[in-house]
Amino acid sequence: MTGEEPRPRLAEPLARVLGTRTAGALAKLGLTTVGELLRHYPRRYGRPGESTDLDTLRTGEYVAVLAEVRSVTMRPMRARGGAILEAVVTDGRGSLGLTFFAKRPGILRIHEDRLRPGRTGIFTGTVREYRGRRQLTHPDYLVVGLDTESEEEALTEASRLIPLYPATAGVPTWRIGRSVRTVLDPITEVDVPDPVPAPLLAKRGHVGLLEALRGVHVPADGEAWARGRARLRYEEALILQVALARRRATARSMRSVARPRIAGGLVEALDACLPFTLTVGQRKVGIDLASDLAGDVPMRRLLQGDVGSGKTVVALRAMLQVIDAGGQAALLAPTEVLAWQHFKTLRGLLGPLADAGTLGAPEIATRVALLTGSLGAEERRSALADAESGGAGIVIGTHALLGEGVRFADLGLVVVDEQHRFGVEQRDVLRTRTEHEPHMLVMTATPIPRTVAMTVFGDLDTSTLTEKPTGRAPVVTHIVPADNRAWLDRTWARVGEEVAAGRRAFVVCARITGDEAEEGDIGEGVIQEQIEGVDLTADGELPLEEVRPHPRTPLHAVGDVAEELRARPELDGVPIGVLHGRLRPEDKDLAMAHFASGEAPVLVSTTVIEVGVDVPEASVMVVLDADHFGISQLHQLRGRIGRADTPGVCLLVSAAGEGTLARDRLEALVETTDGFALAEKDVELRREGDVLGSAQSGGRNSLRLLRVIRDKDIIEEARMDARDIVEADPTLESFPALAAAIEEWLEPEREEFLERS
Ligand code: ADP
Ligand code: MG
Repeated sequence: MTGEEPRPRLAEPLARVLGTRTAGALAKLGLTTVGELLRHYPRRYGRPGESTDLDTLRTGEYVAVLAEVRSVTMRPMRARGGAILEAVVTDGRGSLGLTFFAKRPGILRIHEDRLRPGRTGIFTGTVREYRGRRQLTHPDYLVVGLDTESEEEALTEASRLIPLYPATAGVPTWRIGRSVRTVLDPITEVDVPDPVPAPLLAKRGHVGLLEALRGVHVPADGEAWARGRARLRYEEALILQVALARRRATARSMRSVARPRIAGGLVEALDACLPFTLTVGQRKVGIDLASDLAGDVPMRRLLQGDVGSGKTVVALRAMLQVIDAGGQAALLAPTEVLAWQHFKTLRGLLGPLADAGTLGAPEIATRVALLTGSLGAEERRSALADAESGGAGIVIGTHALLGEGVRFADLGLVVVDEQHRFGVEQRDVLRTRTEHEPHMLVMTATPIPRTVAMTVFGDLDTSTLTEKPTGRAPVVTHIVPADNRAWLDRTWARVGEEVAAGRRAFVVCARITGDEAEEGDIGEGVIQEQIEGVDLTADGELPLEEVRPHPRTPLHAVGDVAEELRARPELDGVPIGVLHGRLRPEDKDLAMAHFASGEAPVLVSTTVIEVGVDVPEASVMVVLDADHFGISQLHQLRGRIGRADTPGVCLLVSAAGEGTLARDRLEALVETTDGFALAEKDVELRREGDVLGSAQSGGRNSLRLLRVIRDKDIIEEARMDARDIVEADPTLESFPALAAAIEEWLEPEREEFLERS
């Protein structure tokens, strides 16, 4: 260990600097090095407690108070189970309650032991009022004599802006704060290479990295904090934008095979037999695609278009152009149902043009192959052979297409449908399967606000289909309170009426059976609640009024609901089908077919119908436990109806009470069907990680301080600066700290993905 080059300060293990006990605790938060700890930013700041007087505390205020414990009592909770510990502290004038809840009394005993009457401490938390008494719920606290030597020391602790860290029960925020100060104090400029080049700091008026870190961790005042935060936000934006600019530059430097439009080929043949006229938008995007494909710079294009805007035919025309020019196209769908649907749709649109090899097929005809995980061995072999020989011009599949052993004769274009389900990494994997760079078209029906697009898809050119094909009927959305019997009866009556009029109804459930969710399909709403749960405890507060009753009533399951509906008088004699991810592929096909034909006009299903499924007669959708799903998911679901000229109605059944976040999400859907507006709302209401998708969320490489809607100006600035940097120095040779920051930001998830695949 000795005589070697000194380890850079930031890479130093915390165990060495802080000792194994503290380091062990911090490791629970995923913090193992000095650098990681310094990037664990406070979430908020508490007001210094020096001068607080318990009588002047206002509810909602985050405070730190110096007070003496007067009494402590512990008792079981009847209603909710678990136990509650209540203490009363006083500053000699007023008093304040402290409340702790726990499932098991053991944890509370620790508090009970520390909070002995007569002891003095600093207590931090948000002031709440409960039954007319002010209290702190799950406060963070330091006990004089246990956690600090003297009252003076406690006071010093309490007299600065108190950084409040994302914490856990085992590692309270004050302990994180102290650890941060221990590692931060001796650090100098040379220890923290700044990823932001000095000229950019000057140009944008930002402080250097060390000053910024001090500003957020140990702010002298509010301004120091604001300066630090602004600079760190810019840094996040810059790192991301430089990474994207580099991807873009790399793609530009590669070569694809040019696939120019050929006269007298499949594109013209298709156009001649389309059952509708292309919209102006479809034509315009078509021209963009045609010219991208005609060049030898790999196309990297994102096609955005709300549900039902007609992206499929646009993609098909691009695929046919490639086939006409001698190549093949792959179409990647997020689910088997959607892959199947695409297979049928494309074959339907192509007609005899997809019958190559059969008698009477036109000479230019090609074939469409379907390759999904659930194919039988024989079908799979034949699909693989068709892809490898080039016999299939179009190969459609789920991510099974990403699997080993799939070879193409000459893959010229990859179309990725419903990109929100795929990460950047998955796009890359498919690309590496081929000799030369294929062109790539990425499609999404989740409209993406501009800055989100810049952040997530900043390496792609963008086209948008804004208009929908004419003849679309509007969809009206209502919320049905789950406990309102009359409304529920009316809901099923409406379903019955639509069916009687020859139309179809979707009934969407969150689960397949009473105890299992759809595979790989945890509702976004649930994830949201989990995140919120973490957040509440992380801030050390668990305000009484926000405690969520844990999974209320069990979520509705496909099987049960189908049974129930069969017994309802409103649906007497109406055949009811079921569809979910665990059915055999033949049965899925059958369920869809019976639904489409009207043999089983009510389809109870999970979200497998979410994307792309197209049955024009479908006019009603009932979503049970609607709050379980996210906004964009519901918007997608709703896009399945109102596809023909009958107005659609979407009924969101939910037990979410007025004023809850869950209810707000549903209200947003009632208010608008504009996908872009909903996308913005979604970003506002949800954690950004969910919106950004796997590529930018979670773990070390998530956005910490940057918010894609709020900080759009910063992102725009960073995008311009990033372009300049990459133009001047594509390999970032002269920006080693920036290059290192990008590596660190992007690598972990990529590696993880490659291991998984
Ligand atoms: P999405 O953009 O959601 O993938 P689709 O491509 O599935 O939308 O198209 C939805 C429906 O609209 C399909 O039934 C399709 O055949 C139809 N469609 C597409 N383009 C047109 C058009 N120009 N005129 C009329 N109908 C169209
Ligand atoms: Mg689609």
